[in-house]
Amino acid sequence: MERDIYWKAVSERDERFNGAFYYGVNSTRIYCKPSCGAKTPNRENVRYFGDCVSAEGAGFRACKRCRPESIKPDPSTEAVIRSCRILEASSDISLGDLGERVGLSPAHLQKLFKEIVGVSPRKYGESVRMNHFREGIRTGSEVTEAMYDAGYGSSSRLYENVSDKLGMTPATYKKGGEGMEIEYTVADCELGKILVARSKKGICAVNFGDTGEDLDKGLMKEFPKAEISKNDGALKQYLEAILENLKGNRKRLVLPLDLQATSFQLRVWEALREIPYGETVSYAEIAKKLGNPNAVRAVAGACAANRVALVIPCHRVVKSNGDLSGYKWGKERKKRLLENEKAER
Ligand SMILES: [Zn+2]
Repeated sequence: MERDIYWKAVSERDERFNGAFYYGVNSTRIYCKPSCGAKTPNRENVRYFGDCVSAEGAGFRACKRCRPESIKPDPSTEAVIRSCRILEASSDISLGDLGERVGLSPAHLQKLFKEIVGVSPRKYGESVRMNHFREGIRTGSEVTEAMYDAGYGSSSRLYENVSDKLGMTPATYKKGGEGMEIEYTVADCELGKILVARSKKGICAVNFGDTGEDLDKGLMKEFPKAEISKNDGALKQYLEAILENLKGNRKRLVLPLDLQATSFQLRVWEALREIPYGETVSYAEIAKKLGNPNAVRAVAGACAANRVALVIPCHRVVKSNGDLSGYKWGKERKKRLLENEKAER
């Protein structure tokens, strides 16, 4: 969680985080402040440090460009980062108690926290619990055990949260889709090949590809432990709906979905589903709509993480200057989708 915030701060060069933490790049052995103007490093190469001394202790040199050793932390950001750490240790602490511990009034903390992290402390606490819960499941502890470890009092509350946020019940979420039964079909479409897959709960993948073989392999990789079988008949209705959408005959595509996602991704995806057929909006507009205008890159990340092409129309998001930007299934396909939609509108 905290790492996501740090990474977001680095990728957005967010000045408010200067002094709250430092990042070192393994390949160059140099450390920087979050707002450094240097090229954004690869996420896998980045390490985070609480202060310069630990960065230097780990063998990193201070960047000559941003001079990380010469800055003073911003006290509000520091308080928010401290709040995150407290919430990670005990996620159900009240806002009042949290404020008291970091020396801010509840209202002020609420406002700052939302501004910097993007969600309220309560939501953050919920996500922390959800993450602990997921980790518990992934590492193999029993569902009930994971549930108590994660601080859920009763199983009904857990199930409410899970079906809401993951779109998957705990039993099927276990170990990369283990126990999940997935059926899929592959067909020709005007953009090459298309794969549609569903679990018992809803559609879990819609992918474009050049060959059926690539698409088969891609699905196995996405759900390594699921029981996957081809079943053209079972997917017929969904496939037809999606192909009709591609042809412009069915402009609103509302189909049941079964998706694993973070709460931020779900919020972005919900916003994408509201973009009308044939129209585009920018990443920045989505970020603004979600109440976090700084989250442009995070919005782009959520678009790239979309697993259901067309049903969640991430192709309708472009750069602020009108550039198409990337598309998980190829920029050329994005271009053609948007052209088709404009023509059919
Ligand atoms: Zn730097």
